Amino acid sequence: MTLPHPVTGQPFASPVPPGTGWPDDPATADTPVATTPDDVRRAAATASLDDLTAAVSVCRACERLVRWREDVAVQKRAAFAGEPYWGRPIAGWGDPEPRVLVVGLAPAAHGGNRTGRIFTGDRSGDWLFASLHRVGLAGQTTSLHAGDGQRLVHTRMVATVRCAPPDNKPTVEERDTCAPWLLRELALVAGSVRAVVCLGSYGWDAALRAFRDLGYGVPRPKPRFGHGAEANLTTPDDGELVLLGCYHPSQQNTFTGVLTEPMLDAVLGRAATLAGEPGASAAPLMED
Ligand code: SF4
Repeated sequence: MTLPHPVTGQPFASPVPPGTGWPDDPATADTPVATTPDDVRRAAATASLDDLTAAVSVCRACERLVRWREDVAVQKRAAFAGEPYWGRPIAGWGDPEPRVLVVGLAPAAHGGNRTGRIFTGDRSGDWLFASLHRVGLAGQTTSLHAGDGQRLVHTRMVATVRCAPPDNKPTVEERDTCAPWLLRELALVAGSVRAVVCLGSYGWDAALRAFRDLGYGVPRPKPRFGHGAEANLTTPDDGELVLLGCYHPSQQNTFTGVLTEPMLDAVLGRAATLAGEPGASAAPLMED
């Protein structure tokens, strides 16, 4: 069964077959599909950013996650019963030479897994994009669906694990299987990055691990995650990269007031300032 895309009206099956016209689909019908952890390692080792993005978007290396993302795409949430679901991994999205990098955990079952774009189509994404727009890092206040005209300004977003996991909890094995995609993407874009915003401790730990693996100098003992925490990393050519901790804009945090809009704006504004964008704060947010 096909259903019309909410923006373009073109009919799609769920999950969406690669190369069939979904807005921003990076893959074609011929994009090689990784089906094992070794496939992921091999494919990620030398890929260009375009090839990497395409390969990520068709990956099938984690049996449990492939089954989950595709089951969700077929069953759907009642509110979205009339829409096609992307039902594939969510590739990194945004500027190929970013100054700000946002690192999250994994796509949401009815958010990114539905819309095909990272942090798009759920309440967490609503908060994040509204704040990115307020500090000058996104072109529009909302990100509703691939094809809606939204764009990031000198910013790129990546998920640590690229498929929606049950209960938002990937296993350690799934995290490690997916890690080469993240590592390669960071290796390809990190040269221009000045600030990395890590959403939640999971993103913080993943970024620290990945940058250490890429030869960046990471302070010891390991910097502790907190909202507004900053860690200065040394780049392989003796430059500086700042990691910023940010509470995840999950409903658990935003409903309870653990994370407020000014708190989110402060961290993203700090990232914008570090990146040379007009931001909300030039000073470090928290001494640690
Ligand atoms: S989580 Fe990563 S490695 Fe596993 S299937 Fe998804 S994209 Fe592939």
